[in-house]
Amino acid sequence: MRKIPVLYIVIPCYNEEEVLPVTAPMFLDKIHALAQKGAVSGESRILFVDDGSRDNTWKIICSLAEQDEHFMGISQSRNRGHQNAVLAGLMEARSRCDITISIDCDGQDDINAMDEMVARYMEGFEVVYGVRSRRDTDTFFKKYTAQLFYRLLNWMGAEVVYNHADYRLISSLVLDELAEFKEVNIFLRGLVPLVGFKSTQVYYERSERMAGKSHYPLSKMLSLAADGITSLSVKPIRMISMLGFAVSLLSFLMIVWIIVQFFTGKTVQGWASTCAIVCFVCGIQLICTGVIGEYIGKIYLETKARPRYIISDRTYETGETAREEK
Ligand code: UDP
Ligand code: MG
Repeated sequence: MRKIPVLYIVIPCYNEEEVLPVTAPMFLDKIHALAQKGAVSGESRILFVDDGSRDNTWKIICSLAEQDEHFMGISQSRNRGHQNAVLAGLMEARSRCDITISIDCDGQDDINAMDEMVARYMEGFEVVYGVRSRRDTDTFFKKYTAQLFYRLLNWMGAEVVYNHADYRLISSLVLDELAEFKEVNIFLRGLVPLVGFKSTQVYYERSERMAGKSHYPLSKMLSLAADGITSLSVKPIRMISMLGFAVSLLSFLMIVWIIVQFFTGKTVQGWASTCAIVCFVCGIQLICTGVIGEYIGKIYLETKARPRYIISDRTYETGETAREEK
């Protein structure tokens, strides 16, 4: 049987001054409730990660931390995106706790699923994925593009949990291993399954944002999708080679046919069709170059090995740790 764990709830926040005052007390109530029923230790905390917000988010986090010792906050030196913010929080938390649960700060993910997540951990699981059982509150467009994205990723060979975003429990044991994955382009949904260990899923219903608005417009969603695919799979490059073979074979057959036509006295006519074919093949080539370029860009960024996050501020002194030496 495991000992009662110290839980850190890791919450990325970017320009969330509207929603934070609404959801912060909910997170606090949850951690109290969990501690009261003996599911988690009283040393458990809520760790906000301010992702370089331009509004009053950091001020709100600081005042929350002053009001209640259960609230803690770190601030990133600039906006680096959701994934990097979550990673910063997880890496900050891992030496202080036994388990982390990452969750968005907008109240869309049902905090009551945390009870079950902790229970699964106690049963021996190291990773517990929160899976959306229904996405009724998402727009039609978001629902279907997301579905397509999960299918595509799985087809590309990247193992991702269907309908799971970044609401998950990870034990410090797994986080210590995750820390060894040094890549700069991080897509946690694909990385965490790669770390391995015993994992399971809990289901919850996703609701609407409690306030504020989404930071994921179509352009950002597309770039997240492209990042996810290119940082987890090389299948697109392989597909390009196959496409190259197919087009070459087709043109070879065409040449043979034209020669046969020539010797049978029938000259093939039509510059328009030639033009169309040339343009079509040029287009395919440009797309292929673009895909390969995407990978070269990734290599370029990886070789620089720049830090994935920079913490510029904390609401607390570093040094103390609640995690027991193992
Ligand atoms: N977020 C972040 N950095 C960013 C964009 C978003 O830390 O650059 C946080 C945001 O504050 C929220 C979570 O990531 O807690 C998910 O963002 P959002 O709710 O806007 O995305 P959606 O739920 O619409 O996909
Ligand atoms: Mg959201």
